[in-house]
Amino acid sequence: MSDLVLVVNAGSSSLKYSLVDAATGDEPADGIVEAIGEDRGALTHRGPSGEHTDKRAFTDHEDALRAVLDAFEQHGPALADADIRAVGHRVVHGGELFSEPTVVDDALLAAVEELVPLAPLHNPANLEGLRVARRLFPDLPQVAVFDTAFHATLPEHAYTYAVPKAWRDEHHVRRYGFHGTSYAFVSQAAADLLGKPVEDTNLVVLHLGNGCSVTAVEGGRSVETSMGLTPLEGLVMGTRSGDLDPAVPAHLNRQLGWSLLDIDRALNKESGLKGLSGVNDFRRLTELRDAGDEDARLAFDVYVHRIRKYVGAYYAVLGRVDAVVFTAGVGENSPSVRAAALAGLDRLGIVVDDGRNEARSRDARAVSPDGADVAVLVVPTNEEWEIARQTLAVI
Ligand code: AMP
Repeated sequence: MSDLVLVVNAGSSSLKYSLVDAATGDEPADGIVEAIGEDRGALTHRGPSGEHTDKRAFTDHEDALRAVLDAFEQHGPALADADIRAVGHRVVHGGELFSEPTVVDDALLAAVEELVPLAPLHNPANLEGLRVARRLFPDLPQVAVFDTAFHATLPEHAYTYAVPKAWRDEHHVRRYGFHGTSYAFVSQAAADLLGKPVEDTNLVVLHLGNGCSVTAVEGGRSVETSMGLTPLEGLVMGTRSGDLDPAVPAHLNRQLGWSLLDIDRALNKESGLKGLSGVNDFRRLTELRDAGDEDARLAFDVYVHRIRKYVGAYYAVLGRVDAVVFTAGVGENSPSVRAAALAGLDRLGIVVDDGRNEARSRDARAVSPDGADVAVLVVPTNEEWEIARQTLAVI
């Protein structure tokens, strides 16, 4: 029997997929359908015979997933022979209802629907992916893996906002946290690298990608995290502001007459690195900064200052830290962010070795000197593999 899982990540206008061997992490094929519902749609499939692109319009997620099945048929590997065990779905918001990966049934669909007000941008698309995959794979078990689930262990004092009781009780206003599958994968891999059981390991894990967040992981459990009710709070991100005075939306509403929805959109889509420098892609930002662009310099400085503040805060939350861990696109690939964010923290036992930090590698590795009090690690994340593992564990 195989350990193959088809991992599906349905966004509002995209559908990412990956065929993953849950035992080894091998990915015999993966791909993405982009611009679903628009004229300029495209399916890119990578499989045993290389990369294939099919440019056409995809009317909806069902059309997109049918095209993915055709791509498997045409370019391989043939799904009929692959003996897939299950479909694993990324679902962004599990609210207070889901703290574990869960087999998809009618009750789960209704519950994810109920959670739409908490994640209006993400959960409707995830739901669509669940429904379509159930129709197209009626004989395969389907499992929902929630981005919030890893943070179900947050203590009450960490997840509670100091707001009126009715908001908390009736409207579920609290910190949830996101990037959970990444944290689950990276925490285990970091403990393995340190040669310690994850249960005895305290970590500050920085997930720095398009979205950025940081989590204090105590003995494998999330005890504090920077994203909140939504993925807007915390670190500076590609297009999201992260932390700001909660009075800012009301101020702008009074000053500009903008609706709260418009302000929310700008804080999610026009802020962060993009708001500061005009570009949201970190590679581009690095090029501009290297060329002497002042806005890019400021964006970089604000970005790393925010990270540093959180490292200090989460050090205090944990009391004892075994490692500071960098992951995701920026965390894995930007030595300058790692060096700048942790510079001058040697009194906390945190030191970056310049040679190790600059060396390029795709492997999990330490970039601190041997014997440092607090290891600084770079650990490539693999959310697809984690979803596949959790999916098989449930079925
Ligand atoms: P992710 O969401 O994990 O795919 O991360 C995407 C972010 O990582 C984008 O801002 C990329 O520009 C950034 N990134 C990817 N490769 C590099 C690199 N070599 N140097 C700096 N940033 C990178």
